Amino acid sequence: MSSLKPDVSPDGELANAFRIGLGYDIHRLVEGRPLVIGGLEIPFPKGLLGHSDADVLVHAACDALLGAAGLGDIGLHFPDSDHKYKGICSLELLKNTNLMLKQRGWTLINLDATVFAEEPKIGPYRHAMAEKMADALQSNSGLINIKATTTETMGLVGSGEAMAAMCIVLLKSSSIKEEL
Ligand code: MG
Repeated sequence: MSSLKPDVSPDGELANAFRIGLGYDIHRLVEGRPLVIGGLEIPFPKGLLGHSDADVLVHAACDALLGAAGLGDIGLHFPDSDHKYKGICSLELLKNTNLMLKQRGWTLINLDATVFAEEPKIGPYRHAMAEKMADALQSNSGLINIKATTTETMGLVGSGEAMAAMCIVLLKSSSIKEEL
């Protein structure tokens, strides 16, 4: 049976063995834009408005990952005032986020997310979204769970004005060594 043993720093404190992070995002739904969620373009008459491709799910994932690693948020690293991010595929932001985490020795344990959308149905695309996000994270899609809910016609999401996403992640520090 394996056990997890955190390293002890020179000052005697335990390294930050596991960290959780939470991300939330919401974007306005408008005509004349492609709908991109989880890196996947979904057939729909409207799309999300934003400086990038406005991928609400990937943005929530970036925020959760950055939060868990104590690295601030997506706006800090990829500001919408920077022209180089205009129209960018948000999976590129997720790749960059993953790079920052890897450089600091963080490994993804799992990612769980919920997309809030009145329509279209997200369920048929959830596995393909997980594959796209896993590729960007150099991870396994089995660690990524994507689900969806409507808000039963209530509020900004329910009226079709917006889509939102929430994400939570667990990271493991490489300072944890598995002992067999
Ligand atoms: Mg966003």
